[in-house]
Amino acid sequence: MRHAACALVAALAGTAHAQLLDVLNHTPPRVYEGQSVVRVRADSIREVNAAMALSESLWSEGAGVNAPFDLQIRVDRIGALREAGLEVEIMIPDLQANADRAWAELRQAARFDRPRPLNTPRGGNPHDEAWFANYKQLDQIYAYINNIAAARPELASVSDVGNTIQGRDLFAITITGPDQPGNAAADRPVVLWNGCQHAREWVSPMTVTYLASRLVSDYDTDPVVKDLVDSIRFVIVPVTNPDGYLYSWSTERYWRKNRRSTYGVDLNRNWGYEWGGDGSSGATDSDIYRGAAPFSEPETQSLRDLALSFGDDLVAHIDYHTYSQLILYPFGYADGVQAPEPDRTFFQNLTEDMSDLIQSQSGAFYNPIVSWLLYPAAGTASDWFYGDPGAKSLTIELRPSDQDVFGLDGFSPPASTILPTAQENWAAAKLFAQRTTLPLAFGLDAPTTVAANEQPVIGFTLTPGTQDYDPTSVVVSARIGAGPFIPVPTTPNGTGTYSATLPA
Ligand SMILES: [Zn+2]
Repeated sequence: MRHAACALVAALAGTAHAQLLDVLNHTPPRVYEGQSVVRVRADSIREVNAAMALSESLWSEGAGVNAPFDLQIRVDRIGALREAGLEVEIMIPDLQANADRAWAELRQAARFDRPRPLNTPRGGNPHDEAWFANYKQLDQIYAYINNIAAARPELASVSDVGNTIQGRDLFAITITGPDQPGNAAADRPVVLWNGCQHAREWVSPMTVTYLASRLVSDYDTDPVVKDLVDSIRFVIVPVTNPDGYLYSWSTERYWRKNRRSTYGVDLNRNWGYEWGGDGSSGATDSDIYRGAAPFSEPETQSLRDLALSFGDDLVAHIDYHTYSQLILYPFGYADGVQAPEPDRTFFQNLTEDMSDLIQSQSGAFYNPIVSWLLYPAAGTASDWFYGDPGAKSLTIELRPSDQDVFGLDGFSPPASTILPTAQENWAAAKLFAQRTTLPLAFGLDAPTTVAANEQPVIGFTLTPGTQDYDPTSVVVSARIGAGPFIPVPTTPNGTGTYSATLPA
């Protein structure tokens, strides 16, 4: 029996290895000849529908009248787009030439960046910044997260969390510190991050893998990260759509959906909260095809079941996509739908602070807005995570920006895009984890020096985190030097903002 089990493991490993594409000797079929990518502006739903019908693929996350959107389209249909009343800007005149350039870059990387074996010794630091200098295939990503778990088994483990439509396994890496007295790992709140629901968005799985890598590598050196990892269970699914991801390497670079039959389902329209509404389609050939029923796809079922397995411990979630540099918060399923207070204010403050942090770190601007304001889209992961299990959920659209994609392939920008994107989002992801697991966030504008006998006035803002609070219960206590604390009355000045006069 033991012998048979070993043989089975060897056979599986062989299969997995065979999925690694030989980039040097493979040439994807030239399926993009005679196609362009354009940005269009529509004034009516009729125009939106006409544009979708004329296009080969929707490059934006959604399409609507609230904002321009990007379409892949045959060159000989661009005239019809204009005749239908849409404003059209050419972004990529020759898509095949772009795909060729991107493939040439992958070849260059494969030639000069021969993969090093990932075998960090037990207890060593598995993070390899240079690994993120190039796009990596599915099995390379899995090898990377397996190496993290092998190097630091007390912090990280990889588990099989479900299946794809083609029968592949879905993997998650869980990162949390060892059990401590009164702080068992299994009791900690869960923050779930997933990448690559959409196959072609290659910066997404790279960024999400980077987050996992830094959580482990910085545990020993950064007290803030140690604190996070010792108080939160991070569950990270780098590739939610492995079948599509493989297909985007081997055959159709700009494939978005999963690999059901020949047409595929848009996984990010298949989630079961307000499924079937605006910004999704019942037509199988549409890029926003929502599937035959909510959660009809094994990929969304698997991620849903993983989320539900944590019960009330699941507190927060981010779904990473590309491109456009956006931080989107719920809801997205229809025009004008807002999260109820206090969550709405919480989401506004959180996403603005994440955006500010990214901008201060790298200069890149990620626009923090409510999802529907960009494009109403029903059946998204983020709406379900917030609307059903109640997790604070965001959709982040990574680099490049809407301005930077002219002439550039937004789904495979130069590989030098990966690291700055991952680094700025590492900063934002830490802030996200802190804010969504704390009961309250506290911002204080206190005077730093005070003249003798002066009565300073302080102002502060309380932001509900995972719990609401009673606004009348806010008390400030102050003391002079090492003296006793004296309660000071507070004056509420509107949404979460207070002032207090400290004693002389
Ligand atoms: Zn996407």
